[in-house]
Amino acid sequence: MKDEHTPIIMWFRRDLRLSDHPALTAAAESGRPVVPVFLHDDLVEQLGAAPKWRLGLGLEAFSRSLDGLGSRLILRRGDALAQLQALIQETGAGAVYWSRSYDPASIARDKKIKSVLTEQGVMAKSFAGHLLFEPWTVATKTGQPFRVYTPMWRAVQGRDVPAPDASVTGLLAPAKWPSTEELHKWQLGRAMNRGASIVRPYVHPGEQAAHEHLNVFLDRVALYSKHRDRMDMDGTSNLSEYLSLGEIGPRTVWHRVQQAALMGVSGTDAFLRQLVWREFAYHLMYHTPQLVTGNWKPEWDSFPWNTDPNHPEVVAWTQARTGVPVVDAGLRQMYVTGRMHNRTRMIVASYLTKHLMAHWKIGMQWFDDCLIDWDPACNAMGWQWVAGSGPDAAPFFRIFNPQTQAEKFDPDGTYLKRWIAEGEKSPSDTAISYFEAVPKSWGLRPDADYPAPIVALAEGRTRALSAYESRKSH
Ligand code: FAD
Repeated sequence: MKDEHTPIIMWFRRDLRLSDHPALTAAAESGRPVVPVFLHDDLVEQLGAAPKWRLGLGLEAFSRSLDGLGSRLILRRGDALAQLQALIQETGAGAVYWSRSYDPASIARDKKIKSVLTEQGVMAKSFAGHLLFEPWTVATKTGQPFRVYTPMWRAVQGRDVPAPDASVTGLLAPAKWPSTEELHKWQLGRAMNRGASIVRPYVHPGEQAAHEHLNVFLDRVALYSKHRDRMDMDGTSNLSEYLSLGEIGPRTVWHRVQQAALMGVSGTDAFLRQLVWREFAYHLMYHTPQLVTGNWKPEWDSFPWNTDPNHPEVVAWTQARTGVPVVDAGLRQMYVTGRMHNRTRMIVASYLTKHLMAHWKIGMQWFDDCLIDWDPACNAMGWQWVAGSGPDAAPFFRIFNPQTQAEKFDPDGTYLKRWIAEGEKSPSDTAISYFEAVPKSWGLRPDADYPAPIVALAEGRTRALSAYESRKSH
């Protein structure tokens, strides 16, 4: 290994923060110069439109945070290993640090990089940070990974979570900075087209904004379990995009919520349970990587899903013109804000995979493209969980009725008014903005008639159930 005074390359990926960052803390405390780097490799290139654009905003904010420390973020584009090797050459670095990722493609890339760099005498070290619990540290009594959520929650509920590291306040600069590319030249927002300016006001990137969101939420965490399912209310934390890009660490969230509990705030467990759903998704993806590529339960391979994304019913779903108001409202909320309420995510996913019998992958890929809080594990698990092909699922035959869901979780129709323009005398600005965000080629107009349902709810339900029954009998 190279000597102990050489620079450390700190390779940032989905961990754009200075606090609660074990890899960065270790680099800062080493007393060695630190070269912060972000690499635009194939995995970044493959991101959907909205997550890639959101990443660009996150990098802009994070770059400013590093500037504030007298450091800087070096940007390079190309194969990750080749870029790291070039940077090692240019800076004389003796080590590369990063926070672990758990999706199959990142694991394969990182394994290769670790082995090549180690062979070349460069220390390659990965750290925890993206999760509360590393996937190999949580197991059933028989040593198996959990395949059902509730027992996993019980297993981790009382565990110690390491306290988050304090924010790094200084990084030793290298004797000479390597050159960097310019972020704007990467055009990470290119695929957003005219939608970017519509979504932008809803996005507040960066670590500071993440902490502000957490503070605001902690004031109302006691009401979380009462309000979290209400689509018309802002009853949840809105932390997902920050957790997804690592602009806040899960340990920070866990500890702040636990502190609120110690101060007598009630209802915090309901929120921590949701945070552990994120862990569950990651552990599943780590132990059963097919979660992101195919049916988690292989017996679903024989289900007669519609796999054609150009099928008129599927197109109506993507364009949010199904004629089922709550489904369209949710899809429009996502198109305009880059986010969708969790309850509505379940409703639109159930409607697509059951009433329309379209493959969950079509829906997942649409979310991959539209969500600013896109997360490889949570998205894949969410879709498979609703579709019935995933873990711990409600049985397929429990099909959400969008109408009764809307009556229950949007009792005054506020959410629908917020997102549906057609048929309204004076539609809300938010509802109109959907038409300003979508591609002109879709030919949608807010003053058009609202469409009749593309599939009658009862008919769609019967069709799905009979397909399910015949699959079972095979
Ligand atoms: P809160 O209710 O405040 O929850 C706090 C945190 O817990 C969230 O930020 C998230 O990190 C985690 N969490 C909450 N619910 C879930 C859940 N059901 N599964 C996993 N983690 C959860 N979440 C994403 O972060 N990215 C996705 O791409 C994503 N895709 C989804 C797709 C479908 C079909 C479904 C049904 C759910 C999906 N979810 C996804 C989970 C969930 O909808 C969002 O995490 C949640 O709506 C984010 O809002 P919040 O931060 O206000 O959540």
